[in-house]
Amino acid sequence: MPATKMDIIAAAQEPTAFALDRFGAVMKAARYTGPQVWLYKSHLIDNAVAFHAPARHDPQALIPVIAYNPWFMTTVDFAADSKFATMAVLAHELGHIRNGHDLDPYSYPPDLELQADHYSGFVLARLKASPHQAALVHRLIFAIHGPNVLQECATHPDLFRRFEAVQRGWRDGGGRASVKELRRALDRIPYELARWHFTCAPPPPADPRARGRLVRRARPRN
Ligand SMILES: [Zn+2]
Repeated sequence: MPATKMDIIAAAQEPTAFALDRFGAVMKAARYTGPQVWLYKSHLIDNAVAFHAPARHDPQALIPVIAYNPWFMTTVDFAADSKFATMAVLAHELGHIRNGHDLDPYSYPPDLELQADHYSGFVLARLKASPHQAALVHRLIFAIHGPNVLQECATHPDLFRRFEAVQRGWRDGGGRASVKELRRALDRIPYELARWHFTCAPPPPADPRARGRLVRRARPRN
């Protein structure tokens, strides 16, 4: 059975100084002025969540909480080799708080996700992330939500709406980069799917020479 908010809070651990530091930088860039957000480390969640929960010191008070799975953050940080990847995750969660969402830790209503994605792009621009670094976030979203993509891509590409939300936020935050880099990250998805799944793209032709042409055409330019 999935953990409830109360389970998460009860078993939550203090974040590392490093995590607090990075979160502080996100809040500063966002110019966040709302109620204090409590950052926790938790092994009961898959990646990161934001919700409101009774405070440990005062169970009557509902406080905004962001919890992160430390192994997830380590993976993201290490794989992306850029501080902006984990910052985007934290900014996304802060976006939920900032927009007054009170989510169940395991539900992701699409419209609310779009708002949080917009905020993530907005904060990334404020952090002066380069277009290349912002594109990382797109790849990250894809990596996290990959299994859903396989169901969605054929009919309703929700994931692409999420990418567009990040891009809108990026522009609203003053990101002046050409969207080309971001576009390229998007274009890469059918290629990745074709390489490993062939779910959203037609399977390669049997003729090896024709297959070579298909792969060359699908290969992203970067
Ligand atoms: Zn979210």
